[in-house]
Amino acid sequence: MKAVRYDAFEGPLRLIDVHDPTPTRDGVVIKVGASGLCRSDWHGWKGHDADVKLPHVPGHEFAGSVIETGKDVRKWRKGDRITVPFSMGCGTCERCRTGDEQICDRYYQPGFTGPGSFAEYVALPYADANLVRLPDSMTFTTAALLGCRFATAYRAVVGQGRTQPGEWVAVHGCGGVGLSAAMIARALDARVIGVDIARDKLELARACGAEILIDANATPDVAGAIRNVTDGGVHVSIDALGSPATCRNSILSLRKRGRHIQVGLLLGAESEPPMPMSQVIARELEIRGTHGLQAREYAGMLELITTGRLNPERLLGKTITLSQVGPELAAMDSFPGVGVTVAVMG
Ligand SMILES: [Zn+2]
Ligand SMILES: [Zn+2]
Repeated sequence: MKAVRYDAFEGPLRLIDVHDPTPTRDGVVIKVGASGLCRSDWHGWKGHDADVKLPHVPGHEFAGSVIETGKDVRKWRKGDRITVPFSMGCGTCERCRTGDEQICDRYYQPGFTGPGSFAEYVALPYADANLVRLPDSMTFTTAALLGCRFATAYRAVVGQGRTQPGEWVAVHGCGGVGLSAAMIARALDARVIGVDIARDKLELARACGAEILIDANATPDVAGAIRNVTDGGVHVSIDALGSPATCRNSILSLRKRGRHIQVGLLLGAESEPPMPMSQVIARELEIRGTHGLQAREYAGMLELITTGRLNPERLLGKTITLSQVGPELAAMDSFPGVGVTVAVMG
């Protein structure tokens, strides 16, 4: 089969012929229909992710159809149209048995811990615990958009944020995951505030349902401004960017007993930012992280999409071919971050 592979970090991303994958006993082989490009793929190629072993085939936001099943697979057969969470649970550890496959102790991440989906075929273990059946009406390209940013935003707003109709939700950072969170919160009839330093991203946040926009560059006290317009603060606040400043602004923009959800990664020297812990105590605030979305929780998200309340297609930037993945991925450091690029396999 054809696959995009690199043999060295920051080395050439070549479209080459490699052996076709075979399924493990509990796994399947998927014919990839579409696979989204993500900054995490770029980080892996740069050598920033300890899970990636060389040589490596990247790609983790995908959808396709089952072409082969291992002999222990019970729920799936050839021809089934599926997607999977970017972090797959083993199905048997304590986390998985208690319903938290997104933080499995033996997780598998195609495109990181194993070969990914910038290829004609990808093998996946743990099929019965992780595959998600796609609605007939959903294209592979749309399903590929859900893989990582959208599913993470859904878990932040719905699972961890427990957002209720009529509540205020602030989204700090309006890139792909922030815009997804804005759209999902609006679909749940929450009232959304978008915060960013880029005017074009704020306009996208408005298009995704934010009713109040805050330009953080022009607002000395972002958290105070949010508390003012919401009569005491938002119910749910999401740091979708990941920086000491957005994390702090997010916590301080909450009303009493509000919920802060950390989505954006804080890396390197920023990984342990100072926290306004006195406010966390005095206002009884909640601080939660979010890592991924377990397969069973996809049902609620897919229903919001098939009933037209959520339109992930709005996040689509452009489609490319498998042969264009290498150059696109290598150029991601200068990528402005508006719209998701999806490789569609022909
Ligand atoms: Zn597990
Ligand atoms: Zn991703």
